[in-house]
Amino acid sequence: MSKENLFTKIIKSLQSFRQTLGLKPAAQQNGDAMAKLIHMLENTDERELSCDEVFAIIDQYAELESGGEDAPSIFPLVKKHLDNCHDCLEEYESLSQILATTPMQGN
Ligand SMILES: [Zn+2]
Repeated sequence: MSKENLFTKIIKSLQSFRQTLGLKPAAQQNGDAMAKLIHMLENTDERELSCDEVFAIIDQYAELESGGEDAPSIFPLVKKHLDNCHDCLEEYESLSQILATTPMQGN
């Protein structure tokens, strides 16, 4: 089942739910909002990460980088966010420093 079909189904159930409640369907408005949501979900590769999302994976990013991997290529959205967000960049830099001064376990 494609995402679009799934969301069409969700929209239809929401609309019938509204009708059950006796609400007037705001079809145009709902359609627009839902179209935007679908567009956003289908273009996850292009969307920007939030600080919370970056914070959730920044340690992996820093670890890759300190391990000599090309972290910006693996997580381009993180790199893009770091270029624009001072808070996350600071977090990344302090993590990098910790990783650089802490020997890897098991090595
Ligand atoms: Zn940020």
